[in-house]
Amino acid sequence: MIELQGITKSFGTLQVLKGIDLMIEKGEVVSIVGPSGAGKTTLLQIIGTLDKADTGTILLNGTEVSCLKEKELSAFRNRQIGFVFQFHQLLPEFTALENVMIPALIAGTSSSEAMRKAKETLAFLGLSERASHKPAELSGGEKQRVAVARALINNPAVILADEPSGSLDTRNKEELHQLFFDLRDKLGQTFVIVTHDENLARLTDRTIHMVDGRISLKI
Ligand code: ADP
Repeated sequence: MIELQGITKSFGTLQVLKGIDLMIEKGEVVSIVGPSGAGKTTLLQIIGTLDKADTGTILLNGTEVSCLKEKELSAFRNRQIGFVFQFHQLLPEFTALENVMIPALIAGTSSSEAMRKAKETLAFLGLSERASHKPAELSGGEKQRVAVARALINNPAVILADEPSGSLDTRNKEELHQLFFDLRDKLGQTFVIVTHDENLARLTDRTIHMVDGRISLKI
């Protein structure tokens, strides 16, 4: 599902990724751990096509993304990849339902179909009762689950999550982690999760350790 070869990335004179080779299979739940500054977020952003590598190739679900032009790339990203961030990044002026609809609307889905899909996705995540609430009226765990619904609405092949449970308390953390595994089991999505959370990392199918811009073999 994800195949990286020889990925390097520098910001100015700082080389942040120093040659990353990585293969992730469909349906794998993979965590990326490592010290702060190791390059984890940069790698996730590059996998998510939000940033470009300086060298190397990236195959996502069979597509070589560096060959795509900007317009094709954003359409590809919107269809194939869902993002979950540490802070939910829901738009405060919109309801949960409207927030979840946004990626579908961007993908060109009609508003009635986007609404139908958003309702279905919220229901799937047990959030139907919260559909008309704005983010400020939701608990931390609910906000993060709405963010997961938003990531899921276009049925992407890959979900990328950057410290998804970093702002949650223990109970909500556990629920969110369980949700990722349920989604993988029910929908077959591939998850790549950057985390400091050792409990989450331990549960994943595979943990990738990054140190100083490289994948470390030491566990
Ligand atoms: P991690 O997620 O492992 O903490 P990051 O990928 O966020 O690491 O950052 C790796 C290094 O790259 C850090 O030294 C960070 O300051 C630097 N960095 C990340 N993004 C940028 C950027 N847009 N411009 C300049 N430096 C950056």
